[in-house]
Amino acid sequence: MRILVPVKRVVDYNVKVRVKADGTGVDIANVKMSMNPFDEIAIEEAIRLKEAGKADEIIAVSIGVQKCQETLRTALAMGADRAILVKTDAVVEPLAVAKILAKITEEVGADLVILGKQAIDDDSNQTGQMLAALTGRPQATFASEIEIDGDKILVTREVDGGLETISITSPAIVTADLRLNEPRYASLPNIMKAKRKPMDEKTPEDYGVDLTLRHTILSITEPAERAAGIKVADVAELVSKLKEVGAI
Ligand code: AMP
Repeated sequence: MRILVPVKRVVDYNVKVRVKADGTGVDIANVKMSMNPFDEIAIEEAIRLKEAGKADEIIAVSIGVQKCQETLRTALAMGADRAILVKTDAVVEPLAVAKILAKITEEVGADLVILGKQAIDDDSNQTGQMLAALTGRPQATFASEIEIDGDKILVTREVDGGLETISITSPAIVTADLRLNEPRYASLPNIMKAKRKPMDEKTPEDYGVDLTLRHTILSITEPAERAAGIKVADVAELVSKLKEVGAI
């Protein structure tokens, strides 16, 4: 089984982002960037499947600026076998990402694509679903457990009422939720080894995908500042304050 894992370079989850002064977006100049956390989980799951003898090859792919190479090297250091960088300086919306991924899925003959359930920068939660639609493959989103038995893939999903287990047939698309696993840290020897693993460089044009944006961001604003808290002397005062603000 060949597994494709798309990994996105995003602002590190520890960074407190700031909106640009002109309100056109978030300021990412001189900000720490990392692999999208859900994609780390997706890579980890692919590695575990390979370690369990259920997969033969893991290919990581990233679409974006040249520096996405660093994200791909992290994936390779964790245990992916090879990588594909689809280089572009343009903003790429989920539909265009999904179109590129659909072409790569066919090109490399991926039996399973494991994506993150969402990228923490735009919180779109669209790419996996669009990829399934474009490739006509079955999808299982928000996976918290994946079990492979031949061409059957059993996926446990986190749904409102609890856990749902569904069975899909490969080739398929799965998106990873937070509780699927805890990703490993890459060891120093593996970081060194990753430098020698193959990385192909492509462009969106190689896949014939038009990146024209289909929506316009009208504005981006900072969330409202939270008011400072106050100290109360006793429970009676707490109750009266809560009544004052209509909380009880
Ligand atoms: P989204 O639909 O943007 O929330 O992203 C969902 C998932 O799609 C991510 O967790 C990644 O696995 C994948 N993805 C989205 N954008 C990219 C990108 N530019 N490069 C590689 N993978 C991506």
